[in-house]
Amino acid sequence: MEQLLVSHWHKNTRYEIQSIGGMEYIVPCEYGSVYDPIKNENNMMTDALNLGKYLTENNLGQNEMVLDFVHEYGLLGIMPDIAGSDIGRNERVIVRDNIFVESGTVEVNEFAKQFFPLDNVDILDKINNKGKLRLNYRSPIYSTMFLRKYRYCEPLDWVKKYFKYLYSFTIKESKLPEFLPPRLTYKIDDRNGLNLLCEYDSLKAMIDFAFAKAVTNDKKPIRSCKHCEKLFYATDIRSEFCSARCRNQYNVYKSRAKH
Ligand SMILES: [Zn+2]
Repeated sequence: MEQLLVSHWHKNTRYEIQSIGGMEYIVPCEYGSVYDPIKNENNMMTDALNLGKYLTENNLGQNEMVLDFVHEYGLLGIMPDIAGSDIGRNERVIVRDNIFVESGTVEVNEFAKQFFPLDNVDILDKINNKGKLRLNYRSPIYSTMFLRKYRYCEPLDWVKKYFKYLYSFTIKESKLPEFLPPRLTYKIDDRNGLNLLCEYDSLKAMIDFAFAKAVTNDKKPIRSCKHCEKLFYATDIRSEFCSARCRNQYNVYKSRAKH
């Protein structure tokens, strides 16, 4: 049986950074489209690691680098990631252990306000009035996040913090057991024969899971390119370079050095 991963994610055509109430947010501007991040999950994961590396080592150009990533893949989906997909079904929401805010129980709209700073969003109402808002078979919160009428935003500092957090585990392997795992749910689906569907509620969960799979792989596929030092995913166990270009350049320099 082929195991199926449900992984559609939404990205807007354009995002920008706006200061709202003294806090900087990444705000969606033009409506976008849905795509499948799992197809290239290892590229996405190493892009996330390289961004974390950049943010850790450089002060200049940070916002542009973050926006580049967001334009490529969309926002992280921190809201469902830390509160779970059933957010909005109750007046209170359980915030799980995470690197952004304190965990515990909070009022659901109070919690949601952190992600919809530009709209007067009522998560509870939206779910309860059965507006048939479900996108495909996704959780209601997934649909609420990507409704055209609301602008789902993420605090810029939180997004930066996540990439640096992820990257920090590549520097210190002994820290890996402390890695906070994403919450993954699955179900048995019968639309096309019986399939196991693994449902991701956030882009962050997809990156986290790709990372967890890679760091527990004996072949140690996350490597640093011998030429440019970018992190890459080695599909071949012998790979030492992120690209053919880097391999060629390295060899050119090496042979020049010999003469
Ligand atoms: Zn390279």
